[in-house]
Amino acid sequence: MENVVIIGGGPAGLGTALMLAKRGWKDITVLEKRPSADYYEPDKSFSYQIDGRGQKFTDLMGITTKLADLSVPNTEFYFTIIQKDGKRKTIKLPIADPNRKTAYWLPRASFVNLFYQEIEQHWQDSIQVLFNTKCVEIRHKKEQLEIITQSQDKDRLSFTPILLVGCDGLNSIVRQTLHQLEGEGNSFEMQQFPSASSGLKYKVLTLPCQFPLSDREGDVAQCKMAYGIRSSFKGSKKAISLGLLPLKNPDRPRTANIIAYPDHQIWQLETKEEVAHFLTQAFPQLPLKQILSPEEIARFTASDGGTFPIPQYCSGLYQIWGQPQENQGTAVILLGDAVHCFPPDIGQGVNSALEDVCLLQQTLAETQDNLSQALPCYQSLRQADIKALIRLVQISYPWQYGQNLLQKRLWSLNFFLRFLLSRVFPFLFKPHSFLLIQNHELSYSEIMRLSNRTTRVLFILGGLVILLLAMSWINVR
Ligand SMILES: Cc1cc2nc3c(=O)[nH]c(=O)nc-3n(C[C@H](O)[C@H](O)[C@H](O)COP(=O)(O)OP(=O)(O)OC[C@H]3O[C@@H](n4cnc5c(N)ncnc54)[C@H](O)[C@@H]3O)c2cc1C
Repeated sequence: MENVVIIGGGPAGLGTALMLAKRGWKDITVLEKRPSADYYEPDKSFSYQIDGRGQKFTDLMGITTKLADLSVPNTEFYFTIIQKDGKRKTIKLPIADPNRKTAYWLPRASFVNLFYQEIEQHWQDSIQVLFNTKCVEIRHKKEQLEIITQSQDKDRLSFTPILLVGCDGLNSIVRQTLHQLEGEGNSFEMQQFPSASSGLKYKVLTLPCQFPLSDREGDVAQCKMAYGIRSSFKGSKKAISLGLLPLKNPDRPRTANIIAYPDHQIWQLETKEEVAHFLTQAFPQLPLKQILSPEEIARFTASDGGTFPIPQYCSGLYQIWGQPQENQGTAVILLGDAVHCFPPDIGQGVNSALEDVCLLQQTLAETQDNLSQALPCYQSLRQADIKALIRLVQISYPWQYGQNLLQKRLWSLNFFLRFLLSRVFPFLFKPHSFLLIQNHELSYSEIMRLSNRTTRVLFILGGLVILLLAMSWINVR
């Protein structure tokens, strides 16, 4: 099969290109508006944890060993909390299930670059990646779609593929076009669901990898260690925390996330002097002058940062015009954030996107790459899981960013109650969904079903306890 255009060169886009090339597809073009695969954008430099779900894809491509070489395994995830007085406590990652496949931590840029290097080394004859090239318009012409792009030097290109893959993230032009062309229906409209973490604003400070932790000589941060550095401020609108995830490569910059609701004081600061003053007051335990250059503080001040999205998905995953199989038509499929997007609470953004790619590969294999059969089959297999995934994001751990201490404590109570009960009565109770998600052999729908069943049993038992207490109280009287 030939003539594929993939819009978006993130994990889903490059992953789909690799998967199709491995299946023998040719003439695959990836359009990516960013300048390169490992382009460093300070406010998009998150670290990913690639778990068993994401590794279904890296196993398929035979690159899990390369992934491991670039990453810090979760079995070596140590977390040091540094209090405002400088006191430190190191703990092992508290809520990782030791029975699961080892997961790997690495920065987004390294992960995307791993896919790109794979293309460069093994699939150059099937895949071309056009960086600095943005899809600006998609036209519907008879039974086909025409893709119009614009590159940095203002060149306009046009493509008329038989397969168009929309891997262009939350504001997908592919999904928006399908929505416009759909007319009455709303299967390509994003349905949104509330979450306590959506709307949180984040910005990232870039630090040297082994930055000094105090004025003492040799007292420096370890790259592979995660840190939570607490501020001296109190109150939800002033207290902040610097969150640093582990990093394997000491030559890469280290990033510290600041996450807070939009009404937090740090987001109201307008000048670099105000930000420098705020950070110095907030973190007296750190030698900040040695860690943050005036240029980095200026960049941080000027940056708009980002906002955690509202959990959302659309039910339509594909559309077919004409007969793409006979080279007279276009089939379109949407994967990754283009169809399901949410805050990073459960670390499933990339993992679910790669699971999409693996399921597409499975349906292509089962239908001998017949798009008219494979895409409807893909949609019917994936729809329920996407819906369950969005629900799991809403309930699993939205309070982890310190927005509300009471809610965080209630979450911990629920988590440990389910954990203990599932140990003692495994046939009746299952662990919290946050732990179940780590089992990549369970689908998102199955996890939701097990979690709901435990909730129902807890409600019934709670109701019985209240009834018994009420009855004994009446008897006493
Ligand atoms: C702060 C934050 C932290 C996160 N942390 C995690 C985490 O720890 N674990 C995890 O699994 N997920 C995390 N995620 C989510 C994760 O980043 C996404 O789920 C993942 O990137 C989805 O991959 P994708 O390829 O579908 O989309 P994207 O990564 O968004 O890639 C889309 C690509 O398309 C390109 N593009 C868009 N429009 C066009 C166009 N018109 N023309 C050409 N190119 C275009 C973009 O430049 C981009 O490169 C986080 C997200 C955020 C915001």
